[in-house]
Amino acid sequence: MTEIFKGSFTQQEPIPEEGIAAALDVMRSGRLHRYNLGPDEVGETALLEREFAAYTGARYALAVASGGYALACALRAVGVRAGDRVLTNAFTLAPVPGAIASVGAVPVFVGVNEALTIDLDDLEAKAEHANVLMLSHMRGHLCDMERLMAICDAAGITVIEDCAHTMGAAWKGRASGRWGKVGCYSTQTYKHMNSGEGGLLVTDDDEIAARATILSGSYMLYGRNGTVPPETVFERVKYETPNVSGRMDHLRAAILRPQLARLDAQCAAWNARYQRVEAGLRGTPGLQVVERPEAETYVGSSIQFLLLDWEDGAIGEVISRCLKRGVELKWFGGAEPVGFTSRYDSWRYAPHERMPASDRVLRSILDMRLPLTFSLEDCDLIARIIRAEVGAVWQGEGAA
Ligand SMILES: *Cc1c(COP(=O)(O)O)cnc(C)c1O
Repeated sequence: MTEIFKGSFTQQEPIPEEGIAAALDVMRSGRLHRYNLGPDEVGETALLEREFAAYTGARYALAVASGGYALACALRAVGVRAGDRVLTNAFTLAPVPGAIASVGAVPVFVGVNEALTIDLDDLEAKAEHANVLMLSHMRGHLCDMERLMAICDAAGITVIEDCAHTMGAAWKGRASGRWGKVGCYSTQTYKHMNSGEGGLLVTDDDEIAARATILSGSYMLYGRNGTVPPETVFERVKYETPNVSGRMDHLRAAILRPQLARLDAQCAAWNARYQRVEAGLRGTPGLQVVERPEAETYVGSSIQFLLLDWEDGAIGEVISRCLKRGVELKWFGGAEPVGFTSRYDSWRYAPHERMPASDRVLRSILDMRLPLTFSLEDCDLIARIIRAEVGAVWQGEGAA
C-alpha cells in the first residue's frame, strides 16, 4: 500500500478566540490607526510593543507593517546610506537583499555552510568590506553567535538580526535578536505569530529606537508609542529623520497579543513536530539531517535536509515523487526562483561572485514547513514518505 499525505503545508491555525474578540472591539471602536486613541487609552499597538519588549528583554520595541519594513527601517536607523555596502547571507529569502537594495545600499553576500548558517571564515575574510551586517537566521538556524559578535566587534561592524524564523529562539540562552544592535521580526502569516502582515523591531539603543520610531511614521506623536526613548534623543533626531510610513495598526496588534502570550507553548509544539520528522529521516542513506548545536534553542517551524552532491535530476525526481504522495518539498538550489525560494545569484540588482562551497550546500537543500495543523502522526507519515522516496531514487529505481 502506498501511503499518501493529505494535509496542507500552508494551513496555519486559526487566530485565538481572544484575539478575534479583541479585533472585533477595535473594529467597533472605529479607531484602527495606532495614534487614534481615546482619553487615557494606551491602545493595542503600544501594548503589543510593551509586551514584546518584555518578552525579548529589549528596552525598546516598535511595531511596524512587515518584517521587510523592519529590516529596511533598521538599516536606515543605524545610518546606512545609498551606495554603502551591507554584508548579508547568501542563503536567505528575497526580502533580505531586497531591504538592502530598498535603501540604495549594495548587498555583499557571505557564504553558507552545511549547518545552514553563515560561514564565519568567509565573514571574517569579508569583514573589511562593510560596516553593517544584516544577519539572517535563515530557516531558524543560529550560528555561533559569540564568534560572530567577536568578528563583528573587532571589525567595527554593526549587526542587524533578521529573526523572521527565530522568534522564540536563542543561542546560549540569549534570545535571537538580542545579540546585535537591532532585532527584526515578521508577523506575516507563515511566521511564528500571524497577523497576515506585520513586523517588530527591538533595540536597546536610544537613538536607533528614536530614529526607527520617526521613520515608521510617528509624526510628532511618538510619545504615544509603547516604549519611548527620552525626549532629548528625539530633539536630536526628529528634524533629520524622514517619515517613511510603515506603522502597525490596532487590528493587527489585537490579534498578535494573545499569540505572544502563548508563543513559548507554540514553539514547543513546533519542536515536537520537528523532532518526529527528524527522527524519521535520520539514517536515510544519501540524506544528511542538519545537526542542531547544543548551544542553540531552536524553533522547528520548518525542517531542512541535504542531498549533498546529488545530481540535479535526481533531486528533481525526489521532489516530484514526494509531491505525488502529498509531501511538498522546496528546493533552494533551483536555477530559477520559484515560490518563496531563490538563490543569491537570482538577483540581478546585487553583484555576486561565485561561492563554490556555498553553491554545493545550496544545491542540496530541501525544505519543508511544519505548520501546527500537522499532528505528530502526520509528521511520522511525512518522514516515512520522504525516506521511501529518497531511498528509491538513491538506489536508482527512480532513474527509469
Ligand atoms: C518573511 C521573511 C522576511 C520578511 O518578512 P515580511 O513580513 O514578509 O516582509 C525577512 N526575512 C526572512 C528570512 C523571511 O522569511
